[in-house]
This record gives sequence, C-alpha cells and structure tokens, in this order.
Amino acid sequence: MNMITNHMPTAELQALDAAHHMHPFTSGTELAAKGARVITRASGVTLTDSEGNEMLDAMAGLWCVNLGYGRDELAEAAARQMKELPYYNTFFQTTHVPAIALSSKLAELTPHDLNNVFFAGSGSEANDTNIRLVRTYWAEKGQPEKKIIISRKNAYHGSSVGSASLGGMQPMHAHGGLPIEDIHHIDEPNWYAQGGDMSPAEFGLERARQLEAAIEEYGAHRVAAFIGEPIQGAGGVIIPPETYWPEIQRICDKHNILLIADEVITGFGRTGKWFGCETLGIRPHIMTIAKGLSSGYAPIGGSLLCDEVAQVMNDCDFAHGYTYSGHPVACAVALENLRILQEEKIVDRAGSEVAPYLKEKWDTLNDHPLVGETALCGLMGSLALSPDPSSRAMFAADKGTAGLICREHCFANGLVMRHVGDRMVISPPLVITHAEIDTLVERARKALDLTH
Ligand code: PLP
Repeated sequence: MNMITNHMPTAELQALDAAHHMHPFTSGTELAAKGARVITRASGVTLTDSEGNEMLDAMAGLWCVNLGYGRDELAEAAARQMKELPYYNTFFQTTHVPAIALSSKLAELTPHDLNNVFFAGSGSEANDTNIRLVRTYWAEKGQPEKKIIISRKNAYHGSSVGSASLGGMQPMHAHGGLPIEDIHHIDEPNWYAQGGDMSPAEFGLERARQLEAAIEEYGAHRVAAFIGEPIQGAGGVIIPPETYWPEIQRICDKHNILLIADEVITGFGRTGKWFGCETLGIRPHIMTIAKGLSSGYAPIGGSLLCDEVAQVMNDCDFAHGYTYSGHPVACAVALENLRILQEEKIVDRAGSEVAPYLKEKWDTLNDHPLVGETALCGLMGSLALSPDPSSRAMFAADKGTAGLICREHCFANGLVMRHVGDRMVISPPLVITHAEIDTLVERARKALDLTH
C-alpha cells in the first residue's frame, strides 16, 4: 500500500477512512455516504482541511484546546520527555519527575485542599476511578453499604461502562445495558426547557431538593456521593440557576455525602477562573479533570482528592490503576500547558477581557427570530433554537433537526459550532482574539439566517 499522507486526494482519504476507521458517536453508513472532513493542520483558533478550507474552531476541538493550536513549546516538551524517559509507571514503589512536578503544580492551582491527584488517561477513566474510590472510601470507614451514587439526567461523564452509567444520557444507556447497579439519576437544572412557570431561583431550589428527596428515599447510610458538572457541557451548556449549587452543597454537607465536581470541561480557565467550582462557589471533596489539563495535546486525566479522602485512601491498598496513570510524556505536556496558561496570564485574561467581550457579542444573537435565549459563562456558551422565542417553545416534534441544519450551515461557512438537540454550543480556545470573536458571531448569524 502507498504511504497515506496529507497530500493524497481527499476522496481517497475519505474512502480509506470509511472502509477502516470506526468513528465515535457517528453512523458508519452516513460516513460512507458523505465522507468525513479531513482536518490536516491547525494554528491558534483556525483549522485547515485537506482542501485548504479554513474554519474557526468555536469548540476548541472537543472543549479541550484551551491554549489554542500550534504551540511549539508543548511539542518540544513532549520530544524532550520522550528522549529522556518515554515511559515508566508509578505502580509498585516507583515514580518519576514529571508526575511529581505535575501533581505538585495541581495542588498549587486547585482550590482549598484538593492536594492529591490520582492520574488517569482520560476523563472517563478518572470517573471510573471515582466510582471505585468513593465506595472504597466508605467501606474503609466501616460503611460498606454506602454505595449509591446520585447523578443527573442528561449529564455527561464519559463513555466507559462506569462513567457512562454516571452520565444520564438515555441513548448511551440503551447501548450496552447501562447503568450499572447503584447509580441513580435526578432531573437536571435546565430552567429554559423545564422550568415552566417557576422563576429560575425557585426552579434551582426545586431541582436541588430532588437530591435531598432521593437521599431520604434510599437512606443517607446508603448514599456515597453526588456527582455533577458545575455547568453541563455535552448536555447543551446548561447554566444552572444561582440557587442550585449552594443548595446541593448544603444537602451533601448535611447528609455526609461526598460531592464530586466533574470539571473535565469547566476546568483550566473555561469559566473565566481556573476552575468552575470557583466560579459557581462549590467546595467538592473530589474533582475530575482532563481535557484542558493538557489543552488536548496529550491524553491525560485525573481525580483530585481533598486531604481527608486522600488520607483514608492512602491508608488502604487501593487495588486500582492504569498503565498510563501519570504517563511521563503526558505529564510533561500538561505541565508546559499549565506554565503557559499561568505565565502568559491566559486564564486571567479569559475571565477579565475575553469573556466580557464574547458575552457582549454572543448576546447580540438574541434578536434573531430563531433564537430563544443565549447563555454564556466565561468561554462556554449556548443558544436555544426556537420556533417562537417569546414563549421558550422548542422544536419538539423534530428535536435536533434545526440544530443539525444550523451546524451544517456553520460548517459550510467556516465555523465549527456543535449542536445538542436544538441548542447550539460554543467553547472556543481561551486565546481567541476580539476580531476572531467578531468573525465567530458573524458566521453564527449567517448560519442562523440560512437555517430559517
Ligand atoms: N466528564 C465530562 C464533563 C466530559 O465532558 C467528558 C468528555 O466530554 C468526560 C467526562 C469524559 O472525558 P473523556 O472523553 O476524556 O473520557
């Protein structure tokens, strides 16, 4: 077979791709019919495909390229580490400098006493760790029956058996017989779609109190933890009412339930602060991280534990770990990413300069006849497509079709914006400039006009 390179004709690449490559969350039949777009290069916030077309990536890949594309320093950090020590594990009484340095850096950056990290290769793996970890924690404390984990419908926590069980996405549960035992889901705090006549504040409290009702139903002695994304990302960038998280925190504290904040998307500057917990005022016992930790340049994730939980886990011989837990190359890349985010004040600037400008511009889309609401927190945002914006009506009958059409128009007009049902979502690299924000919003408006 000839060498397969960027220089091959697109149609040939697409045919090989459809023949041999199975894509996540994609219908193979559709792929074979239409062909995938072949992305060949990227720089800053701009992607280039095999035909030479440029697109503004308003999704930062999959919510992860916080630093933007094309930073040589990360490639150099990976090359240096590969030459020096490409792999060693951290099992069985060994360690290495990149894992020591990254865990120390994370202890410095994360809020309160989340000083202890258990590394994984991805967000899914980290959430799998969390399931075993919280159950083992309570067993070690003499309460082995405290095993139930409460999550939310329409939450996304990953694709492995455990993490997809934590997630609340029905189509994912349908594939493979999920959820696993002792995971229960309460309703999500989606006021726009489900709030009815309630004010956002009332609705936030009502949704949070479903947690208390569930704990009372199962018995606090059986409930190990609650897990939630500070802001649901893959569920459509659902920003909860302000009353929601303080009430969740109160309930977890009162009933002695561990609180897990899944910061896989909201971490590392996405909400305008280093962590979503700081933006939303949450004090978790455990935090899941991945994506922005390395800005997607290398696969790495982890669970950050507060001191008390870590102490209990350190005192037991937790039979858990991955070959790539604390992979030295991924750790070196993540460290370099964090150095740049910090030294170039990219997170600070995202909160103080980029987010306010993006909000001003994003909200101008509110006057479009197809837009029911715009929502934004830091650099993650969404807009609801609606047949009648004045009533918060949804395209109920063909849920998702309008979003899909809009996404296709974005794609054809040089903008990568994703749709979740009839919500369009954005999560651009934190380094996006004001001029690029203008372009993003202009292209989004054009796609909305064409969707009409
Ligand atoms: N948790 C959240 C909140 C996510 O958004 C994701 C991925 O999108 C995950 C976990 C899973 O991470 P990964 O895809 O790295 O396994």
